[in-house]
Amino acid sequence: MDDIGADRTAALLEADRRSLIHPLHHPKDHEQPRLALSGEGPFLRMADGHEVIDSLSGAWNVHIGHGRRELGEAAADQIGKVAFASAYAGSSNEPAIRLAERILGIAYPNMGGVYFTTGGAESNEGAFKFARYYWQRRGRMDKTRIIARQFAYHGTTMAAMCATGLPGYHRMFGPATLEVFRAPAPYPYRWTGNGDPGTGAADAVEAIIEREGADRIAAIIAEPVIGSGGVIVPPPTYFPRLREICDKHEILLIADEVITGFGRTGKWFALEHWGVLPDIVSFAKGVTSGYLPLGGVMVSKAIRATLDEAPAEEKFMHAATYSGHPVCCAVGLRNLDIIEGEGMVERAAAMGKRLIAGLEGLRDLPVVGDVRGVGLIAAVELVEDQATRRPARGLGARVAAEAYARGLMLRNRPGSADPDSGDTLCLAPPLPTPEAVLDRIVETIRASILAAAG
Ligand code: PLP
Repeated sequence: MDDIGADRTAALLEADRRSLIHPLHHPKDHEQPRLALSGEGPFLRMADGHEVIDSLSGAWNVHIGHGRRELGEAAADQIGKVAFASAYAGSSNEPAIRLAERILGIAYPNMGGVYFTTGGAESNEGAFKFARYYWQRRGRMDKTRIIARQFAYHGTTMAAMCATGLPGYHRMFGPATLEVFRAPAPYPYRWTGNGDPGTGAADAVEAIIEREGADRIAAIIAEPVIGSGGVIVPPPTYFPRLREICDKHEILLIADEVITGFGRTGKWFALEHWGVLPDIVSFAKGVTSGYLPLGGVMVSKAIRATLDEAPAEEKFMHAATYSGHPVCCAVGLRNLDIIEGEGMVERAAAMGKRLIAGLEGLRDLPVVGDVRGVGLIAAVELVEDQATRRPARGLGARVAAEAYARGLMLRNRPGSADPDSGDTLCLAPPLPTPEAVLDRIVETIRASILAAAG
């Protein structure tokens, strides 16, 4: 039964305002919170009676869509066997072992091991520690700092927050605990640097390395496609050049694939698009399609070897109770069965072309500045004026409100969050979203822009 009635809804929302502290909390955002009651495929049914298309797959994570009971069965089966069994030193459990093997089987061929976490930020914390550990085992004690890019989102725990390149996430939480050098993003629509945005943005990383000293820098962290910062797809020159620079200066390349992993871009992992191998990969979200919290860090065989060859007194003292949680890993295994068995990665590639072609058709609207995407992750950047590219501010929120009224839940990244970009409508629908629903997303965005800008 979906309908919980007006009284119960009102009581729940009041309790929400009283008791719950939300991510990015501000009471103003919770005057009328949207309460989801149930979901099926790309649709959510809301307590206000709306059925909406969930065009961001929850928080970029519900790859297989809502309501797949098989994942509940996988969790129940595992709980029926053993709900928790530690994967700490000297112990292990079957789902964690099998999921690690499974992920290594679909990941980059140079990967040599998986450490499980419970989410994206925790994965990036781990990634930074793997990088430091790797260098310290080699006697390179000062290689501790990180390069990260403008517009990056890497999570909000302390070190991940320092790497995040969106100023709003830092404002009230200083001082920074991790020294981060900020590089420009390869952002073709707003590139003002030297050269083409791919080579130019990579060369800017090299300039930072030369200025700050390669012997002080452990790694660069990069989302293959910047997600929360506005779905910024790099030109094909960027990652191959970045890889060369990392090799030349002995800097590790951490791919933050928390959004892009597990088929979102039409490949299992997104650096495959450019034939580049990372040293470390952070993942989360799509590994369980968000049905249970799980993430992880994958490391290259070379990094893995530094763990395996370490003397006992230098062992890798990084840990979490829920690393390799058997129920989460069992759900991850079933989720990957579904993604693979139903051909969702190939489907994301094909359907992405359809979605992006549809969005390209919006360019006749004067406030549509840029359209970009790869696979089933895409964005429409709004401007005040196509010729000057002056960023739109406030329009995106109005478009999202109009879209909701028309049955489309739409994520607007407010341009006000950063001086160098405009409101951007971000899309990452579930991988099996039917063609007709993808077309409806495009039509609804057009109608909503017309209503909001008109
Ligand atoms: N990295 C990327 C690229 C993300 O998009 C996110 C979350 O959206 C994170 C890390 C943080 O993940 P979590 O919210 O699970 O900590």
